Amino acid sequence: MAKDLSLQYVADYKAFNFVDGEGVRCSLYVSGCLFHCPGCYNVAAQNFHYGQPYTQALEDQIIEDMRKPYVQGLTLLGGEPFLNTQVCIKLCQRVRKEFGHDKDIWSWTGYKWEELMQESYDKLKLLSLIDILVDGRFLEDKKDLTLQFRGSSNQRIIEVPESLQQNKVVIWDRLVH
Ligand code: SF4
Repeated sequence: MAKDLSLQYVADYKAFNFVDGEGVRCSLYVSGCLFHCPGCYNVAAQNFHYGQPYTQALEDQIIEDMRKPYVQGLTLLGGEPFLNTQVCIKLCQRVRKEFGHDKDIWSWTGYKWEELMQESYDKLKLLSLIDILVDGRFLEDKKDLTLQFRGSSNQRIIEVPESLQQNKVVIWDRLVH
């Protein structure tokens, strides 16, 4: 549970990047993950103590960066966003308050969709604030660098509101490969 694990630390924040989802994005990398996937792209951020505390000043900076008209949305990565729900829910709620659905929210997670469906209230709350989820652990034997926004072929790009509504995984409609 995030309340037992998270120190509300962030490993990094990258404004205006082109790789963490569709369009120009502001990306927050939260600290702490328990999955320990061999070949993890961000081993340092598996540590809940890594980085700096999340602050109101950082949140305000993210919101100001997102006001730029060319920014499509926010991306949550880690570490594990769903083990840092205190930070991620607060930030997503602020994004919705400031921008409604004019900006989108993507998140990566090591949980599979089916696992999240069995999980705690805070994880489902965070999920309800997200538009696109890239799910599942990174598996080295399924590694494929040609995939859109994913490291291994078990991972899926999921339309969250549609999937919640239909109670089944709905894959992103702009998936190319
Ligand atoms: S789920 Fe992601 S952050 Fe966590 S160990 Fe696996 S690759 Fe690394």
